Amino acid sequence: MYVYEKAPAKINLSLDVLYKRDDGFHEVEMVMTTIDLADRITLQLLEEDRIIIESESRFVPNDDRNLAYRAAKLVKDTYNLDAGVRIFIDKNIPVAAGLAGGSSDAAAVLRGVNRLWGLGLSMDELAHLGSTIGSDVSFCVYGGTAIATGRGEQIKELPAPPSCWVVLAKPEIGVSTATVYKKYSGENANHPNTELMIGALEHQDFSQLCDNVGNVLESVTLELHPEVRQIKEQMAQAGADAVLMSGSGPTVFSLARQETRAHRIFNSLKGFCDEVYFVRMLGYRSNA
Ligand code: ATP
Repeated sequence: MYVYEKAPAKINLSLDVLYKRDDGFHEVEMVMTTIDLADRITLQLLEEDRIIIESESRFVPNDDRNLAYRAAKLVKDTYNLDAGVRIFIDKNIPVAAGLAGGSSDAAAVLRGVNRLWGLGLSMDELAHLGSTIGSDVSFCVYGGTAIATGRGEQIKELPAPPSCWVVLAKPEIGVSTATVYKKYSGENANHPNTELMIGALEHQDFSQLCDNVGNVLESVTLELHPEVRQIKEQMAQAGADAVLMSGSGPTVFSLARQETRAHRIFNSLKGFCDEVYFVRMLGYRSNA
């Protein structure tokens, strides 16, 4: 028996850090939405009690360091199951890119084993379980558009963004989320206005959305990797309506209302950045 799950990437329309908590995590406020750049996860039921990870990507581990492995193991341990699964990850989302690829794979495995092993768990239960694997996993269980608070695991659904085109560029560097958070001091931080971002979604106001994209971690990553700034400038020059780094980076995305303008941005990045994607937002939940 086989089960298939799509594991879409996310972008942060806004990312704010409120303060550092006593438990070491940062209290955040993030508006996130899924895009149609996705890994494809195939789960196969195994007779034997084991978890096998396979992927043709040389960037993802095929052992218990893989978040997809941890997701299956967590479900087995939590519900004391003698169950086996072979997980094939068809990797399309760039790794260590700020697009939550690993978290989305883990979330897809949670949804997948729930079906494969006939557990009947709700999305809320899966999201709660996922939060122990990583802060973005809860959001990825639902997908769509949401505000994530706490350390990122408290999810409230929001309306999908107004229709637009998204061009993503991933420079040839990987960024460690932990390093960026460690370097973030909060001094002179340019905090986004999350309320105005939510208002833009509620009123389907594209220009208000573009005026309020913001990410407090951007300045940290820009300092570590100046090429990220060059990509931002290139996208802005090509006519993007908004340009922002996603998560802890280094991927930068631009939004364009007009398709022709998005093409212009896409073409302007040729020869400048090897990994460029032309996508749309998914916006609405498809799993929950
Ligand atoms: P986020 O936006 O949540 O910070 P990210 O996009 O920056 O995530 P990931 O692609 O999730 O980062 O990968 C970060 C690290 O996790 C990599 O070093 C990678 O080796 C490890 N990893 C574990 N499992 C996976 C997976 N299934 N896919 C990708 N990376 C994985």
